[in-house]
Amino acid sequence: MKRGYFFYLVLLLFIFIISFFMPFISSISTLKISAKNSSIKSLEAFIEKNSFIDKDSVVKIDDNYYYSKNDDSIIDVSKMSFVKPVDVIENMDLFKELLFKELRIKYPLFVVEQIINNDFDSFIVSSDKIDISYLTTEGNKYDVTLVCRDYKNLVSFGCVDDIQGDPNSIGIDPSKKSVALTFDDGPCVYTNDVIDLLLDFNMKATFFELGSLMERYPETVKRVLDSGFEVGSHGYNHKAFTKLKVGGTLKDISRTNDIYREISGRDLKLVRPPYGSINASIRDSIDVTFVKWSVDSLDWKVRDERYVENVMSVAKDGDIILLHDIHKTTLEHLRDLLIRLYNENFQVVTVSELASIKGIPLESRKVYFKFV
Ligand code: ZN
Repeated sequence: MKRGYFFYLVLLLFIFIISFFMPFISSISTLKISAKNSSIKSLEAFIEKNSFIDKDSVVKIDDNYYYSKNDDSIIDVSKMSFVKPVDVIENMDLFKELLFKELRIKYPLFVVEQIINNDFDSFIVSSDKIDISYLTTEGNKYDVTLVCRDYKNLVSFGCVDDIQGDPNSIGIDPSKKSVALTFDDGPCVYTNDVIDLLLDFNMKATFFELGSLMERYPETVKRVLDSGFEVGSHGYNHKAFTKLKVGGTLKDISRTNDIYREISGRDLKLVRPPYGSINASIRDSIDVTFVKWSVDSLDWKVRDERYVENVMSVAKDGDIILLHDIHKTTLEHLRDLLIRLYNENFQVVTVSELASIKGIPLESRKVYFKFV
């Protein structure tokens, strides 16, 4: 072999080896640059360095902060480093208060208490809102939206205040399965606690109250109404309408209505006959809407936690559920009932709301048992 050929062969081999290892050599040199933080001047380089960031998911929050959606991180471009949500929330106490308030609009108290101190599962910053979600150990996901006007003074980055209303308020959803809770025979000393519990669950109810007890607890009647609940008549002192006959029932209902009007300035539209006892002549003679029930909890009879199962074993969409706020045992196990109704996705509303959800107009001289 001539010397010249050998030289070219070695040269070719050299070029081949160099071109084969070139990518590795270049990546080694990039890594060396990346290792020196000070040499990363631009956001692009920062993103390139942190290869887990999806470049397309990075959005600008303001001149100081960028948000990387796919890995849920905030990049401080003045320091070229990651910041956690907690680092950009300047007043964590007030931010937590805001979160609590907004979560409570959407979820019952027992759920909010479970999640409020958890870490965020995601913290997605947009120009005008922050979407936060929580994941519980049971795998339930809860999300809430905060709007700029509420948090702008609590965080270190800027936002645009352009969202009106509250994105967390859900209102009544006609597509959800719904039941009406009704509490009879009050008001009494337990009624306020019943109201508190219902409010903790963002649930509603209709209270069929006795005129004689409205006289004794007028403030409780007002509180039922102020809480967004409904009051119906249960007669003056629980006498059966069938025994009072038409004339007596008319007097009984109008006496109760007078007491209620004195307290509230309104009239009672719904009447639940004591013992559920009513006949056709009473129904056809009095211009009110009669409401009975389709689910009897038997709380008045069992006087213990069994009434919860009595309800849950049969409750279905459109039912009117009978309970009594005069029994301490009903109050004691009410929380369990409400948790179960919540967990089984029941929307709990007043009788009038249930009728409206089902598109059934409430007419006088009619008796309703449920709305389906
Ligand atoms: Zn009763």
